[in-house]
Amino acid sequence: SYRKGGYHAVRIGDPFASGRYIAQRKLGWGQFSTVWLAYDTQTSKYVALKIQKSAQQFAQAALHEIEVLCAIADGDPSNSKCTVRLVDHFKHAGPNGQHPCMVLEVLGDSLLQLIRFNRYKGLELDKVREICKCVLIALDYLHRELGIIHTDLKPENILLFSTIDPAKDPIRSGLTPILERPEGGNNLNGGSTMNIIEKKLKRRAKRAVANISGRRDSMGGAVVKPARCLDVIDMRCKVVDFGNACWADKRFAEEIQTRQYRAPEVILQSGYSFSVDMWSFACIVFELSTGDMMFAPKTGEGFSEDEDHLALMMELLGKMPRKIAVGGARSKDFFDRHGDLKRIRRLKIMPLDRLLVTKYKFSDTDAREFREFVSPLLDFSPEKRPTAQQCLQHPWLNPRSSDGKSKVDAGMSKLKI
Ligand code: ATP
Ligand code: MG
Ligand code: MG
Repeated sequence: SYRKGGYHAVRIGDPFASGRYIAQRKLGWGQFSTVWLAYDTQTSKYVALKIQKSAQQFAQAALHEIEVLCAIADGDPSNSKCTVRLVDHFKHAGPNGQHPCMVLEVLGDSLLQLIRFNRYKGLELDKVREICKCVLIALDYLHRELGIIHTDLKPENILLFSTIDPAKDPIRSGLTPILERPEGGNNLNGGSTMNIIEKKLKRRAKRAVANISGRRDSMGGAVVKPARCLDVIDMRCKVVDFGNACWADKRFAEEIQTRQYRAPEVILQSGYSFSVDMWSFACIVFELSTGDMMFAPKTGEGFSEDEDHLALMMELLGKMPRKIAVGGARSKDFFDRHGDLKRIRRLKIMPLDRLLVTKYKFSDTDAREFREFVSPLLDFSPEKRPTAQQCLQHPWLNPRSSDGKSKVDAGMSKLKI
C-alpha cells in the first residue's frame, strides 16, 4: 500500500505543514489512512495526524470526511458532544502523491482494545453504562442536531478519552516530544531504530488500559506507574471515523456498516435512516458487556453470510414480521413468500435474557434490566427503535441506589471529596 496513490510513508521526526507538526509515533491505521501522534510546535500540544492515501477516490473521501468533521466542530463549540474534534487540515505532497491530512485531537485506545485487554470477559456493567452515555450523547448530537448518520459504528471507532493534556503534563502522560529525526537508521513507519521507544510506549499503553479496565491486581497492584489513560476517573470516550458518515437527506451508499454491526434493513435493502446507528449501538453494548460479538455470521453449506446473519438475528430476537421480511429489494434472495428463510429452515431460538443468564452468568435481575434497555434497539421495524435522546432517559443508565440517589451521581460526589 506504500506506493503511488497509497499511504504516505512517515519517519519519526518528519515535519508536516511547513514544520508546524512533527511526527512522533504511529497511533493506528485503517483502509484509507495512517494516523500519527504529532507534536504541534505552534500550540505545544499533541495532535493526531490522519494522513489519507493519495489516489483520487481516497482524496475525495477525505474531503467529504473533512466537511462532516467541520459541521461537527461548528455545532459544538465547547467540544462536549463526545465526537472527535478536527483542529486543522492541509495537503501534504510526498513521493506517492498529494495526501489530504486531518489534524484531530489525540484520543486513546479503542473499545476494541479495551475488550481485548479485558480478555474478552466483558466489562463491569457500571463501566458499560458510562461508555453508553458518551456514545449516546454523540449519537443524539449527530442525529438530532446535525442530521448525520455515522453508518460505521463499532468498537474500533470509539476511542477512550484521557483527561490529562500530555503537553501540559508529559511525565504523567508518558509522553515527551521528539522534535527532530533521530540520527541514522531507517525508521520508516515507526519501525527499527525507534523500536525501544515504541516498545516502551506500547507497554505503557498496555498498563494504562489494564488499569482502567480494572485489572490492577493481576498487573501487580501499586507497581503500575501513572501513564496516559491512568487518571481517567470515569469512563469517557468519543466517536471517530466519519469517513462513511452521511447526511440523512443525502445518502450515497446502499451497503453500509461493518458486517457484525449491520442492521437488517441494510441487508434486505429496504431503506435506512438514523436507526441503523441505534442497531449498531445495541450490538456494541452487548459486546462490551459479554466480550463476544452479538452476531458473527458465517457462510455455510448452501447458505450465504447474509442469510446466516438474518437467522442469527431471529434466533435471538424472534421471527421477523412477514411484512418486513418480504419488504426489501433483496428479500427474495433470502425469504419465501411466507416470510420464512429459504435455506435455513430450523432456528435454534435463544432469547437474549436467557442467553445472558446461561452463557454469561448474569443474575436474573441484571439480565432482565439489560434486556429492557437493549432489545427495543433491536426492533426489526427501524422506526420503532428508540432514539439516542430517548435512550439517554432510560433508567438502566441511571440506576438508583436504595437511598433514592442516582448511583452515578453518588459516585461522582465521593470523587470530588
Ligand atoms: P477505516 O478503514 O476504519 O475507515 P480510516 O483509514 O478511516 O479507517 P480511522 O478509523 O479514522 O481511519 O483511524 C484509524 C485508526 O487510527 C483508529 O482505529 C485509531 O486506532 C487511530 N486513530 C484515529 N483517530 C485517532 C485519534 N484522534 N486519536 C488517536 N488515535 C486515533
Ligand atoms: Mg476506522
Ligand atoms: Mg474511515
